[in-house]
Amino acid sequence: MYRTHSCGELRLQHRGQQVTLAGWVQRIRNLGGMTFIDLRDRYGITQLTIDENTPDDVRKTAATLGRECVLQATGTVLERRSKNPKIPTGDVELALARITLLNAAETPPFTIEDDSDGGEELRARFRYLDLRRNPLQKAITLRHRMAQEVRSYLDSQQFLEIETPFIIKSTPEGARDFVVPSRMNPGEFYALPQSPQTFKQLLMVAGYDRYFQIVRCFRDEDLRADRQPEFTQIDCEMAFVEREDILQTFEGLAKHLFKSVLGVAWTDNFPRMSYADAMACYGSDKPDIRFDMRLNELTATVKGKNFTPFDTAEYTGGICVQGCADFTRKQLDELAEWVKRPQIGAKGLVYIRWTNDGIKSSIDKYYTSDELSAIAAQCRAAPGDLILLLSGDKKKTRERLGALRIEMGNRLGMRPNNVFAPLWVYDFPLLEWDDATQRFYAMHHPFTAPKPEDLPKFYSANRDDIAQVNANAYDFVLNGVEIGGGSIRIHDASVQQRMFEVLGFSESEANYKFGFIINAFRYGAPPHGGVAFGFDRWCALFGGQETIRDYIAFPKNNTGRDVMLDAPSKIDDAQMTELCLKSEIK
Ligand code: ASP
Repeated sequence: MYRTHSCGELRLQHRGQQVTLAGWVQRIRNLGGMTFIDLRDRYGITQLTIDENTPDDVRKTAATLGRECVLQATGTVLERRSKNPKIPTGDVELALARITLLNAAETPPFTIEDDSDGGEELRARFRYLDLRRNPLQKAITLRHRMAQEVRSYLDSQQFLEIETPFIIKSTPEGARDFVVPSRMNPGEFYALPQSPQTFKQLLMVAGYDRYFQIVRCFRDEDLRADRQPEFTQIDCEMAFVEREDILQTFEGLAKHLFKSVLGVAWTDNFPRMSYADAMACYGSDKPDIRFDMRLNELTATVKGKNFTPFDTAEYTGGICVQGCADFTRKQLDELAEWVKRPQIGAKGLVYIRWTNDGIKSSIDKYYTSDELSAIAAQCRAAPGDLILLLSGDKKKTRERLGALRIEMGNRLGMRPNNVFAPLWVYDFPLLEWDDATQRFYAMHHPFTAPKPEDLPKFYSANRDDIAQVNANAYDFVLNGVEIGGGSIRIHDASVQQRMFEVLGFSESEANYKFGFIINAFRYGAPPHGGVAFGFDRWCALFGGQETIRDYIAFPKNNTGRDVMLDAPSKIDDAQMTELCLKSEIK
C-alpha cells in the first residue's frame, strides 16, 4: 500500500499508530536540532518531524529534499507539543521512521501556497502546479459537487442525460462558429456547437421528453472580461410543458443546489420580474436585487425649468443613495467623471444632497428648493440621502443609471458574495432591430416562440408591430449575473418558417441552414421548451468568486490562448495540404 491515510486525516485518536502517507513537500523548516516537513495532498497537510531519535538514513534523505518533492513517509503519530489550531491535523505530527523519495522536483516557479507569489501568466503556464494550490483544489472540488448534485436532482425528475455531437453544421446566428475542416470532404467544414439547441429540440421530437446534458459549448466571440471560448452549460429541454412547468422544475434544481452545495435552505418562491419592469426599475435585464436603490423616472417632473439637458431629454431618472449626502465635492466630481467614461457614456451627472442644512444640488440655479424636494420625494429620499440623476435617450440612460447603481452598490459594500438573490426575468422582446444591417436579430435565438397573444403582430407586415412582439423567454439571474436563459420553443413548422422570414432569410437559405429542424417539425413535434445554465459561472458564484477561470481546470487566457499548451498554433504544410487549406499568413 502506498499510503494508509491521507495528509488530511490524522487526529489525536490516531496517536501511537504507525502510518504511511504520500504527498508533496510544501515546506521544510529547520529549527536547530529539529526539522519539520509539511507534507501535502489534496486532503490536507500533515507535519512530519525529524529529531535526535530519527534514524540517520531518514535524516540524510531529508537533508536533500526541496519544495514539491514527492514523498512516501512512514512513522508514528504523536501528539504535538505546540499545536496548530488553524489546520484540522494541527494536533498531531508524524515522527518519521522511514521516507522514500518517490520523485524529486525542480524548484517550482512560484510558491504553491494559498497566496502564491506567482503572477497570473506564470501560473497559467504552469497550470498543473497552480492546480495544486488549495483555493483551486477547493474550486474544482466545488465544481465536481455541483455536477454530481445537478445529475442527482435531474435524474430524480426523470431527465435523461444524452450526449449530442461536437462536430456539426455551421449555422452562425449570434456568435461566430469555430470551424473544423473535413479531410474526407475536401473544402467542407464542420462547426463546433455554440450550444446543443437544435439537437435537444430534435430529442423532444424524438419523444425523449426530459433531456439534460452538462455540455461544452464553443463560441468564437471577441472575448469580454471573464468569457471563455469554450464553456460548460447545464443544458435542458422538456416536452409538454408551459413556462410555469419549466420555472418550477429549475427553481427546484436551484434550491437543491443551494441546499446540497451551500447548505442554504430556500423555502420562499424566487421573485419574478418582467423584462419591462427590470429595465424600468433597475436599468438592467439582470438586476442585482441584493440591494434596492431603484431607478425613479423624473422626466415629466423636471421639465420646463429651463435646464436644457432635462428639457430636451427623452428620459430623466434618479437613484437615491441612502446616507451619502455627506459625499464631498471631490467624491461627486469623481462620480461625474465615472459616468462620463466611454464604457458608460453619460454626458454629465446631476446630484441632489439632502443634508442637515437643507437640500443642495448642482442645479440650484434652475430649481427652487420646493422643486428639489418634490424630486427627492419622488426618489423616496430622506434627510441624509444623495440623489444622482442622469438624462438622455430612454434606453441608454436607464442602462447608465443601472450601471451607476451597481457601482454605488459596490462602493457601499451592498453586494456581499455570501448573500444570494435569485430572480426570474421573463417576457423579453423577441427581436432586436439592427440599423447597420437593416434586419431583425433574435434576442434569444431563432427557435424561441413568440407569446401567443403577440402572434398577430408577428405576422404583421409592419416593422414596428414586429418589433413589439414579446418572446416566451426567461432568464435566471443570481446576484446581477445572468446564470441561465431559455424559452418555450416554436414547434410549428410554419411559425418557424415565418421566424426565418422575419430574420431576413430567403426560403432557400433557411432550408439550407435549418431545413432539418423545419422538416422535423412536420412529423409531430410536441410543444416543448427548455433552458441552459452557465455552469462555470454558477460554480464561481457559489464559490464566492467573480472569475470563472478558477473553476475550470484548464482555462484559456483573456485573449483565448492556452498558454500552457501554447495554442492555437500553426500546423505543418502537409496537414494544411491534406485539409485543402492555404494560409495567407506565413
Ligand atoms: N441554447 C440556449 C443558449 O445557449 C439556451 C436555451 O434556450 O435553452 O443560450
